[in-house]
Amino acid sequence: MTHDIAIIGGGIIGLCLARDLAREGQDVVLIDSGHHAGTTVNAGSLHVQMQSRFLRMYPELVPNLEASLPLYPAAVRSWQALATDLGAEFELRRSGGLMVCETPEHYEFLARKCTRERELGLDVEMLDRAALRRIAPYLGEAVHGAEFCADEGKLNPLLANEALRRDLHARAVPHHANTRVTRIEPQPDAMLLHCAGGEVVRAGRAVLASGAGTAGLAASLGLHVPVVAEPLHMNITEAAAPLILHLVQHAERMITLKQLAAGQVVIGGGWPARFSGAQDFPTVEPASLIGNLSLAQHIVPPIGDLRLLRSWAGVNTTADGQCILGPLPGEPRVHVAVPGDAGYTLGPLVAAMAAALLLGRDPGFDVARFTAARFSPAATG
Ligand SMILES: Cc1cc2nc3c(=O)[nH]c(=O)nc-3n(C[C@H](O)[C@H](O)[C@H](O)COP(=O)(O)OP(=O)(O)OC[C@H]3O[C@@H](n4cnc5c(N)ncnc54)[C@H](O)[C@@H]3O)c2cc1C
Repeated sequence: MTHDIAIIGGGIIGLCLARDLAREGQDVVLIDSGHHAGTTVNAGSLHVQMQSRFLRMYPELVPNLEASLPLYPAAVRSWQALATDLGAEFELRRSGGLMVCETPEHYEFLARKCTRERELGLDVEMLDRAALRRIAPYLGEAVHGAEFCADEGKLNPLLANEALRRDLHARAVPHHANTRVTRIEPQPDAMLLHCAGGEVVRAGRAVLASGAGTAGLAASLGLHVPVVAEPLHMNITEAAAPLILHLVQHAERMITLKQLAAGQVVIGGGWPARFSGAQDFPTVEPASLIGNLSLAQHIVPPIGDLRLLRSWAGVNTTADGQCILGPLPGEPRVHVAVPGDAGYTLGPLVAAMAAALLLGRDPGFDVARFTAARFSPAATG
């Protein structure tokens, strides 16, 4: 049989995209290698404001980050709409986010970022030490001030992913798990997706919603999509009484933390993991475990009283700070759907934009700068 559309990748993009297309009457099939996805390990932070650290480290990416900024508040609204639509409780809270700093110099940098983000339409404000103490008394003495973003928040990704999977099951969307597509072969009447076990899936069109696997699949068509796999570390503590209301990040150091409804504190922020073994399994680095927890305790001292429950590693996907969306140059039957930074936050929104492009509709945002053609300017699409 030939499906209308085969989606390669069952992460947050693939799950939402399959749902959006099935709702429009498309015959979709979802194929996933079940291999270290970002979605299955992620921290559930809903990010909106730009990362101060990235602006300093990668000034050449600032235009890309600013151009993508309007997507983020819209993405949080998409998550809220999705929760309502699914009738699912996945602990989504738009409780606001604090990007904290420890020095007057970094406060000044944050204040300039805040001014720029307000110009670009974000609901952000600066909080000095006294104002911060009033709304976040759990922060340590080292914290000098923060930028507050009202639209930021958190959800429980295990519950959200499961709610989406249940919905796809109810819609009878075929889901090939543990199935790795090794190459895509264009035929005049269909795309043939060759899988590692010898299976071949036929579809009129295909979508690469494959995170870090997208580069290899595009390469099988002779095309260049330079996504990079980034193994990252996460920690979660035992449950504690309600303490941390906000999503907390650091302006200059690698830390993101928040408390789940059940009381555990989820701590991440980009500490590195490493690949090991023949299957490149993302593996925890002891130095990241210690560094991440030490910093968490420095910012929120009561965390020091909690036991570590679990650590894990997973694979994030990075490109140039922007989404990659729409048809591949030279092969319009194959689309790409890879979110930009904070890709879980962007998931439902970017999937809806990808669905609109597949259905020939208006994606609601200008996607000209998000096309895969930007990586091969000489190609035509
Ligand atoms: C530890 C960690 C914490 C994170 N925390 C957050 C957070 O708090 N907030 C946030 O916004 N973002 C976070 N992220 C980033 C976010 O998780 C990702 O950007 C997002 O989940 C990407 O979704 P995706 O569907 O594009 O890709 P993925 O979730 O990576 O899914 C891609 C899927 O494609 C499959 N695949 C790949 N190649 C093939 C192939 N050849 N054949 C078949 N299947 C294939 C993989 O198995 C995978 O399931 C985090 C990432 C990590 C690693």
